[in-house]
Amino acid sequence: MSQIRVALPVPLYQHFDYLLPEGLQVQVGVRVLVPFGKRELVGIVWQLNPPDAFADKLKPIKAVLDQQPLFGEAIRQLLSFAADYYHHPLGEVLVSALPALLREGKAVLAGHGRVLQLTEQGRALSASELNRAPRQLALWQRLQQSAIRDDDLSGESTTIKAMLDKGLVSWQTVPFTAFVPQPDRQQPLQLNPAQALAVSAINQAAGSFSRFLLEGVTGSGKTEVYLQAISPVLQRGEQVLVLVPEIGLTPQTLARFAKRFAVPLQIWHSNMTDQERLLAWQRSASGDAAITIGTRSALFLPFARLGLLIIDEEHDASLKQQDGFRYHARDLAVKRAALAKCPIVLGSATPSLESLYNVQKGKFAHLPLPERATSQQVPKIELLDLKQQVLKHGLADGTLAQIKQRLQRGEQVMLFLNRRGFAPALICHECGWLTECQRCAAFTTFHKQSRQLVCHHCGACRPVPHQCGHCGSTQLAPVGQGTEQLEEQLQQLIPDFPVIRLDRDSTRRKGSLETLLSEIQRGEPAIIVGTQMLAKGHHFPNVSLVVIVDVDSALYSSDFRASEQLAQLLTQVAGRAGRGDIAGTVLLQTHYPGHPLLQDVIQNGYSSFARSALLERQQTRLPPYQHLALFRTESFDSQDGVAFLSIIQQLIATHCPKVQYLGPLKPPLERKAGKFRWQLQLFCQDRRLLHQALDLALEQSRNLPLARKIKWQLDVDALDLN
Ligand code: ADP
Ligand code: ZN
Ligand code: ZN
Repeated sequence: MSQIRVALPVPLYQHFDYLLPEGLQVQVGVRVLVPFGKRELVGIVWQLNPPDAFADKLKPIKAVLDQQPLFGEAIRQLLSFAADYYHHPLGEVLVSALPALLREGKAVLAGHGRVLQLTEQGRALSASELNRAPRQLALWQRLQQSAIRDDDLSGESTTIKAMLDKGLVSWQTVPFTAFVPQPDRQQPLQLNPAQALAVSAINQAAGSFSRFLLEGVTGSGKTEVYLQAISPVLQRGEQVLVLVPEIGLTPQTLARFAKRFAVPLQIWHSNMTDQERLLAWQRSASGDAAITIGTRSALFLPFARLGLLIIDEEHDASLKQQDGFRYHARDLAVKRAALAKCPIVLGSATPSLESLYNVQKGKFAHLPLPERATSQQVPKIELLDLKQQVLKHGLADGTLAQIKQRLQRGEQVMLFLNRRGFAPALICHECGWLTECQRCAAFTTFHKQSRQLVCHHCGACRPVPHQCGHCGSTQLAPVGQGTEQLEEQLQQLIPDFPVIRLDRDSTRRKGSLETLLSEIQRGEPAIIVGTQMLAKGHHFPNVSLVVIVDVDSALYSSDFRASEQLAQLLTQVAGRAGRGDIAGTVLLQTHYPGHPLLQDVIQNGYSSFARSALLERQQTRLPPYQHLALFRTESFDSQDGVAFLSIIQQLIATHCPKVQYLGPLKPPLERKAGKFRWQLQLFCQDRRLLHQALDLALEQSRNLPLARKIKWQLDVDALDLN
């Protein structure tokens, strides 16, 4: 009997070897069912006859589940690389890459890339026979015109099942080349010189691994560059993957792509059903999906012929997974492109310092789009000094006057406040007691509409108390301001115009984001209030004034990335102003109008800011000039975490002199959900040395008794230092 090494979805750092019984055949990449303790698990064959397998005591596998490998060499290499780089168990990395149904051992769907059509019996039917089933009747009538692709049949599954059972319809697999072009297809725009240069640079790189940073101010026509770079790829019959940061962006982006290309297009995001995911996964593998637009995990889709990879808004923090397998989709996407030998384009109006550094080092080619593509002017940014001003609900008189003026001219106004809820806390008027979360070192946010105190860190919720928890007074009042409050107050101050609020609370229900967005898109004068959700890529042509209610809290932060994030946010929010025919204005309310960061961003723009910020990172020896890895702990005992991290710190101090460390230290949020938190930051200029240190630390610490008592994790290239 031969031996096989199997990757299993368990959080363990080790190999799992099994025996292959006589008569069974496997290839690398197929799924097998194996005994694991008292359970049975579905795993993927990773290696045949591994030279270091222990021949005795191995158990035989139970079954082989696939005839063909689920994914090829490139994806296997990507997953191995990711497991090594992030020091994460391969099995858990696999979980990110496989749709749930395949992990559970379900069969690969036979009929993917299929159309529904009437059977002989279905065609012979007369309409009256379906009178009692109006949905079936409607579908039957549609099917008489032509067969329908399964993606155009969403929401019809019960109807289809009923008709399949009656033998009226059947699925038929079709090659996707048989696609009918959309009648209202959009023609490509005439490119301006900067766009043309970018497109031709990308096109020339076809078939080879090349990296591009498309740095284009908002409205510079980055999307048009993507579209025209995609076109020849599709003509060659290759597939395109477009990564977008958030699902909120997908419907709009999707529509733009669908209007341009008559090819099968699919989306990928976390709100899909298991069945939908499996279908999308298979269409990637078969080469049937020409364009895939998806959030970060789409980069693990097993495209048969990947010809181009695009990451839109490459600076966006949501490309980094913040729990479990903490990968950065941008970095892994670069690896993916290298394995597929295809170009990758990172696009942003506000590129990350990491990517700009890669341009400086010559790793990425720089494709700048310095001007807006249309004749629209770049919005004017004005600082509004709040010092000695009487504020009405957090707004200065000058701000209110401008808001009213814009509304009366029939334009829209957007107010940006990055705090949802009604108020960040309730305070006792008598003794100063503040509502705190009992499980976190944080205040609880007052949500007026739901009459609740909610902790935004652990999610704990409780009803609003009637009395002060300290002195019993009933005089509790909100302190500070959140979007819910701003909405209410604006509605009172300016009753003649609607106020639309866009934040995580107002968009929680399925479909509500789309409803709010389309209300804004109607363009009637309105006040739009929202959190950073507003900053992301939406296109609001009638917004002529953007007010950033409070920049001050972000100006003084302990996180070394705070200034980069603020500059990105200001620029992105400003980009929402004046995208139509109206000149836009951005008003920044601040007590520190002379702050160098604000001055730099306003006077010289993001790219000038970014270049000086990079210099500062170099001088202070911070990422991207150093590589950063972070150990985090959480424990009920306040000292266990620090004890565990001290052992790692001493180990590194003794054996890895080139690696610098900071800590163990308390993060800004010291306690979360009842657990004390600590972290140890490790820095090194040499990535290889840092990873050697991590290997050493992991190997030693896994065996410590403390490691089982606490929760701990390693975050390579950590973004979030909270
Ligand atoms: P970005 O993604 O860089 O913010 P968009 O791609 O959304 O910019 O383009 C902004 C606007 O400019 C869109 O309305 C788009 O149709 C228009 N546009 C882009 N390229 C051109 C061009 N070459 N000529 C005319 N209009 C263009
Ligand atoms: Zn909490
Ligand atoms: Zn009190």
